[in-house]
Amino acid sequence: MMQRTLFSAEHDQFRDTVRRFIDAEIAPYHADWEKVGVVPRELWRKAGAAGLLGCSIPEEYGGAGADALFNVVLVEEMARSGFTGPGFPVHNEMVVPYIHAFGTEEQKRAWLPKMVSGEVIGSLGMTEPHAGSDLRNIHTRAVRRGDAYVINGQKVFISNGQLCDVIVLAAKTETDSGPAGISLFIVEATRAGFKRGRNLDKLGMKAQDTSELFFEDVRIPASNLLGPEGGGFKLMMKNLVQERLTQAIRSATVVETVLEQTIAYTAERKMFGQTLADFQNTQFKLAEIKTEATIARVFVDHCIALFMQGQLSGTDAAMAKMWVSTLHGRAVDECLQLFGGWGYMWEYPIARAYADARVTRIAGGSIEVMKQIIGRSLFEKPKRKPVP
Ligand SMILES: Cc1cc2nc3c(=O)[nH]c(=O)nc-3n(C[C@H](O)[C@H](O)[C@H](O)COP(=O)(O)OP(=O)(O)OC[C@H]3O[C@@H](n4cnc5c(N)ncnc54)[C@H](O)[C@@H]3O)c2cc1C
Repeated sequence: MMQRTLFSAEHDQFRDTVRRFIDAEIAPYHADWEKVGVVPRELWRKAGAAGLLGCSIPEEYGGAGADALFNVVLVEEMARSGFTGPGFPVHNEMVVPYIHAFGTEEQKRAWLPKMVSGEVIGSLGMTEPHAGSDLRNIHTRAVRRGDAYVINGQKVFISNGQLCDVIVLAAKTETDSGPAGISLFIVEATRAGFKRGRNLDKLGMKAQDTSELFFEDVRIPASNLLGPEGGGFKLMMKNLVQERLTQAIRSATVVETVLEQTIAYTAERKMFGQTLADFQNTQFKLAEIKTEATIARVFVDHCIALFMQGQLSGTDAAMAKMWVSTLHGRAVDECLQLFGGWGYMWEYPIARAYADARVTRIAGGSIEVMKQIIGRSLFEKPKRKPVP
């Protein structure tokens, strides 16, 4: 694999810790969790105790105060393992950052230590049955009543939805003002009127819970507002950059992993008096994937470096997610072809990788939405400096 320059010896040590955790606590049980569609809550506590959750949260809020590359290591090692059940990346990269970046001191003290220990599992509630890509059009409402908000509405496709203890929720506080009417709230799953719907039966990511969530006159204190009232859309656009980078990191790692698996398999598989690897077709296919995996790695590592400097733009993240998730889908398909019938059998990791890959071009913004973001940026007028 290409020499990478992002990581230090401490990151490498942490990578070993994550690998050991996956081998001991996830690998032996993942097939059973796929059957029930969810991982046990106990796994989260173990992950917290092993220091895998919220590494970059400052020590005063219970974290290790480490840099965000430790979170990247976790995303990569989960992707390399092929086990998609534990929704750690959702918790770490999609939920914790909202509370950490935009929470009040009181909110951070209330939630972050428990999210680091794994006692509290987070989910992010944006998508609704009739509003996914078009987030401005959500219908869930939060109406101010004295020192409380009353929430009514419904969410769908929410990762960690069956397990979550807390939801970072997008709701409209003003119905007619488009994105400016959207606010974010921290909603505890213990609130009266909150209900979990079905654990949705998915094409892939079988061991990860994905749910409908219902809110019927759910009353929360006004202090649960996250960020400014009406400022939710801007905060979501800001944090979606990290979510999209995370997806690109996952995809780049899966492509490298399935390539390694396919090289090993084709080198062993005998047919027509030679190995499958001896065919020019096999070598050409794998040569193409190797080249694109390397391009993906260079670009994704560049994006990680920009993110670490606080310089990753929404357009860069959209390009990374769009291109690398598309490669992800094509690479697993072409690799599976080389496994023949065995590639279609669930006992082979390539089968699971194939099923798990499909969502990456849809969730967190479809590739069409990514193209729209990139396309728009091409025609943006350069910002003029104000005349002094
Ligand atoms: C497994 C899984 C986990 C998820 N986890 C979460 C979660 O934790 N929290 C959460 O809030 N959401 C979550 N989602 C929702 C996800 O982000 C949405 O599915 C996604 O944003 C697309 O929205 P939609 O499904 O409503 O599709 P739609 O918005 O109906 O889009 C359908 C299709 O229309 C096309 N399209 C959309 N916009 C455009 C455009 N501008 N130009 C051209 N074509 C377009 C695309 O092909 C798109 O796939 C999850 C989804 C899945 C499948």
